[in-house]
Amino acid sequence: MDSEFLAELRRAAPVRLAEPMSSHTTFGIGGPADAYAAAESEGQLQALADIAQRYSLPSFILGSGSNVLVGDDGIRGLVIENRSGRVDQPIRQGNGSLLIRAESGTSLAGLARRFAQAGLAGLEWACGIPGSLGGAVIYNAGAYGGCLADCLRSVRVTNSSAEVEAVAASDLALSYRASAFTRGLLQGKVLLSLDLMLHEGDAQALTARVAELDARRLAAQPRERNAGSVFKNTLEHPAWWLIDQVGLRGHFIGDAQISPKHTNFIVNCGQARAADVKALMDLAQSKVEERFGVRLEPEVTLVGEGFGG
Ligand SMILES: Cc1cc2nc3c(=O)[nH]c(=O)nc-3n(C[C@H](O)[C@H](O)[C@H](O)COP(=O)(O)OP(=O)(O)OC[C@H]3O[C@@H](n4cnc5c(N)ncnc54)[C@H](O)[C@@H]3O)c2cc1C
Repeated sequence: MDSEFLAELRRAAPVRLAEPMSSHTTFGIGGPADAYAAAESEGQLQALADIAQRYSLPSFILGSGSNVLVGDDGIRGLVIENRSGRVDQPIRQGNGSLLIRAESGTSLAGLARRFAQAGLAGLEWACGIPGSLGGAVIYNAGAYGGCLADCLRSVRVTNSSAEVEAVAASDLALSYRASAFTRGLLQGKVLLSLDLMLHEGDAQALTARVAELDARRLAAQPRERNAGSVFKNTLEHPAWWLIDQVGLRGHFIGDAQISPKHTNFIVNCGQARAADVKALMDLAQSKVEERFGVRLEPEVTLVGEGFGG
C-alpha cells in the first residue's frame, strides 16, 4: 500500500493494517481489510473518504456491520467504520412535530429507545434493529409496520469532490429494503447525517410499545450470530416460508446453519466461513426457484473477496 497514502491516512485517524473484519460484523465472519480506520465524527468520515478518493483507492463505509457478509479473503483497499454519533437538539416545528439531525454513525436502536423514553414518537419500530442510521437509509430499514421512509426528511451526502449536498427523502427512491444508494443513483456516496421528523407522544405508552416489540423479537429470532434476514420477502410469500417449504430448516453447511428458529436467518454456530454462508444462500435460492419458480433476492450485501466456488 502506498506509503504517502498511509501517512496521510494516519494523520486523519489511527489505522490498522490487515484488520480482521470478523471483529466488525454481527455475523462474526470476514477476512482482513487491507487498511481499516474508524471515524469518530462526520469530519473524520469525510476526511478519510476524501483521502481514499484522492489516492484512487477503493474504500468501503461500514456502519455496524449488521447487514453484510464479508468474504473470507477480506476487503481490498480501505474500510472506514463510521462511529460518528452526534445528535442535535430537536427543533420544534409547530403542530407537535420535531426535527432532529443525527450523524449517520448513530445507533438506530439506541436512538429509537432514547426517543421513546423522551416521549418522541415515530421511531419505536426500530428499537431492535442493530445498525447505524447510515445503514438504515441504504436499505430503508423497517420492522413491525414502520420504516425509515416514514420519518426521514432529508440526508446530507458527500459528492465526488468532497462537497456536501442535501438530498430530500423524496429523492432517495426509498422502497422495501432499497434506495437510490442501492440502485445506482447515489451509489458510492457517503451519507453524513439524517434529518428525522418525529412528533410528541406519551413516554409511558412509547416505552411500553418498545417492551412489547422487544418481547416479540426475542421470541422470533435466533440468539446465535447472524445478519438479520438473509433474503427479501417476495410479493407472494415471506422468504422464511419458501425456505421452510423446501425442507432447509436447520440445514448445515460447515458451521453455518439455516436457523431452526427462523428460516430466513443464517446463523454462525462458531467457526462459519463466508463460503459456508454463501453456499447455504445458493442452496436456498436454487431449491426455492426449482419448486416455486421465484428467485430469492438477497437482503444481506456481499462485500469483498472469498465466497468459495
Ligand atoms: C439480529 C438482526 C436483526 C435485524 N432486524 C432487522 C429488521 O427488523 N429490519 C431491517 O430492516 N433490518 C434488520 N437487520 C439488518 C440490519 O440491522 C439493517 O439493514 C441495518 O440498517 C444495517 O445497518 P448497518 O449500520 O449495520 O449497515 P452495514 O451492514 O454496516 O452496511 C450495510 C451497507 O450500507 C452501507 N453504508 C452504511 N453506512 C453508510 C454511510 N454512512 N454512507 C454510505 N453507505 C453506508 C455499507 O457500505 C453497506 O453497503 C437486522 C440485523 C440483525 C443482525
